[in-house]
Amino acid sequence: MTGHAEPIHGIVVLTGAGISAESGVPTFRASDGLWCGHRVEEVATPEGYAANPALVQDFYNQRRRQLAEVRPNAAHVALAELAARWEGDFLLVTQNVDDLHDRAHAEIPPGAGFELIHMHGELLKARCTRSGVVMDWFGDMAADEASPHHPQGRMRPHIVWFGEMPLAMERIEAALAACDLFVSIGTSGAVYPAAGFVQLARYAGARTVEINLEPTQGARLFDEGVYGPATEAVPAFFRDLQT
Ligand code: NAD
Repeated sequence: MTGHAEPIHGIVVLTGAGISAESGVPTFRASDGLWCGHRVEEVATPEGYAANPALVQDFYNQRRRQLAEVRPNAAHVALAELAARWEGDFLLVTQNVDDLHDRAHAEIPPGAGFELIHMHGELLKARCTRSGVVMDWFGDMAADEASPHHPQGRMRPHIVWFGEMPLAMERIEAALAACDLFVSIGTSGAVYPAAGFVQLARYAGARTVEINLEPTQGARLFDEGVYGPATEAVPAFFRDLQT
């Protein structure tokens, strides 16, 4: 491992459902592999959507409506504050489909080197099944929602389901290869390719840190672990980081 005493220029932060948990957004695998009472095969796979589009659309309609009842917490705000003051590169990659990072960054405008990627898509976007066009979507979606972009198209949630390719992987891998600090926050490390980011960052010689309620199954891959609720651990960790 090299470069840990060198000044930090490039930061990559990966967040998962744990960062939104204290805002009131339920996590996913925490208990028994169910997502809000549903098996993931039912609501988060292309096969589930093909088998029962009404159930899948209803599931995401509920998740989308729930966004109106939650707010960014101190961990989202701490990352937005870091993005505002950080003069180097800062890529924030979230596996979350909620918009809590977006809202935190809207309140605290980030610096020029900042970028946010939703690698698993966004609840507030919809995609045409035929043309692939992505558009903002704030209301409910019908089971057979017609697409304004293609005569035979249907609109589906812009969510990366299991078995589909995560978004912007080339951009993410390039940032990991160039970063000095990689921090993984509130993710179980069970879902690839995100679970493999720590190895790419280590390969680049970056300092690697896991922030979680408890050590995850991949904890030994990180140089350091900071354990506690995200609303406390995240602000404390980044407060001490020198710009
Ligand atoms: P996960 O549910 O598998 O794991 C959550 C992790 O967060 C666990 O390791 C847990 O220990 C930790 N955690 C829980 N509460 C915490 C807290 N208060 N502070 C710090 N850590 C805490 O989540 P994942 O790894 O992100 O994978 C789930 C997948 O499901 C994601 O890919 C995502 O697309 C989807 N999902 C998204 C949301 C969302 O948008 N908020 C919610 C549920 C699921």
